Amino acid sequence: MRYVSTRGTAAPVSAAEAIKKGIAPDGGLYVPESVKRLTPDEISALAPLNYRERAVRILSLFLTDFSEAEIRDCVEGAYGPDRFDKGDPVPLVRLNSHLHVMELWHGPTCAFKDMALQILPRFMVHAMRKTGENAEIVILVATSGDTGKAALEGFRDVDGTRVIVFYPKDGVSEVQRRQMLTQAGRNVHVVGVDGNFDDAQTGVKQIFGDAAFNAEMEKSGLKFSSANSINWGRLVPQIVYYFSAYADLLKAGTIRQGDKANFVVPTGNFGNILAAWYAMEMGLPVGRLICASNDNNVLADFLRTGVYDRRRDFVKTVSPSMDILVSSNLERLLYEVSGHDGLKVSGFMSSLASKGFYEIPPDAKARIARVFWGGWSTTAETLKTIDTVYRETGYVLDTHTAVAMDVYDKYGVTTGDLTPTVIVSTASPFKFNASVAGALFGESAISGMDEFALLGWLSEKTGWEVPVGLRDLDKRDVLHHHTCGRDGMADTVAGLLGLPVSGRKG
Ligand SMILES: *Cc1c(COP(=O)(O)O)cnc(C)c1O
Repeated sequence: MRYVSTRGTAAPVSAAEAIKKGIAPDGGLYVPESVKRLTPDEISALAPLNYRERAVRILSLFLTDFSEAEIRDCVEGAYGPDRFDKGDPVPLVRLNSHLHVMELWHGPTCAFKDMALQILPRFMVHAMRKTGENAEIVILVATSGDTGKAALEGFRDVDGTRVIVFYPKDGVSEVQRRQMLTQAGRNVHVVGVDGNFDDAQTGVKQIFGDAAFNAEMEKSGLKFSSANSINWGRLVPQIVYYFSAYADLLKAGTIRQGDKANFVVPTGNFGNILAAWYAMEMGLPVGRLICASNDNNVLADFLRTGVYDRRRDFVKTVSPSMDILVSSNLERLLYEVSGHDGLKVSGFMSSLASKGFYEIPPDAKARIARVFWGGWSTTAETLKTIDTVYRETGYVLDTHTAVAMDVYDKYGVTTGDLTPTVIVSTASPFKFNASVAGALFGESAISGMDEFALLGWLSEKTGWEVPVGLRDLDKRDVLHHHTCGRDGMADTVAGLLGLPVSGRKG
């Protein structure tokens, strides 16, 4: 299977090449030229398998230049019991006869980014070998909190790679900061930037685009690559769990072969929900994909109007991993619904860059509307949902998953649809414990407690166990002390890599 760029001008490449490069040379994102459709019997055949076996089946359909043994090796390493805290890496929890929660946060960092970032480095090692790459790969990450830690955990001690993570020094939660600063591994670096997430992101993009720096890197046998969700190697592992949840519903007798299921996805960069769309293209019987946003409701507006308009204020919410105004992976969907027309997609993207918005034609809008339903949840609604669901079911939602639950309620009220539905849960409630505990027990009950004290307190109050990855965080040694200014990121990277530090820009 070949991979093509959404902007249409870069040459098609193999899966290994697409994963190694991360982004296409024309600035587009790699997508498969076509996808293989599974028959209803082939989907039902997944039911008796465990998660890792299901993953090998699905990934083999996309990574056609990897051997089955290589894929199995990646899967066993990524989703084994030493990495995920339960026998089943992705448990499906039943709330009632037609509503289930798919928990994607049982990996080492307690958020769903682990599903992709535990396996991407393993793909990358094989991809480098297959493409004859001798350089050491330097992964640069700008993070608003979850991606950085997941990338550090995924790439730590992986031969032939190094990771440098930049986070906004005062823009992440205490738990998130500690998770990163205590990261062990001989190839990892963590740097606090004096600025916000956008500053860190802009700095990283500048370094990727700095020709002189890249040439200097090459001379020293080094090469930059990206671990964010524009890399196809991060998207493809996410397709697996939609099949897996469906197979679990079949196995439990909740649905029968061919029956439809809905998925509700708390969305930021549009990666997770796009994986569900690919699963549907492969024949998974999906009713609706419900796209849930927080106060940064660009996507909800887009799905309603066909106009993507980023010209609005950025809102800081209690679901920070969804605080985003430009959802990069939407570009892949636009390519698919525009008849694989890279020129059209380029037009949308340049309009977004120059004018801050674009509008898609009615036929593309109609195609999207047949599957996607968009809604959003305000901060007050999100917090209320955490409380209501806990009182009614005993289930503790994190703030991101609560956005999904609230939007699902709105969907139900609007449509009356009773199709069996899976809420996609993206983080452990302990990871955002200050908001969760406040929503459940009132701000006054938790005043004076820091996030570390709250871990144990929330556990005692709810009877839910603190995940291994978050236990004793405040007692672990801080191993990273680097900070830099907004303009010092390139020099910091050079210094960490042992290259001359020469007052670079950016
Ligand atoms: C990254 C993230 C999201 C958003 O996922 P996208 O693939 O960017 O849409 C939602 N919830 C949590 C907890 C996340 O870390």
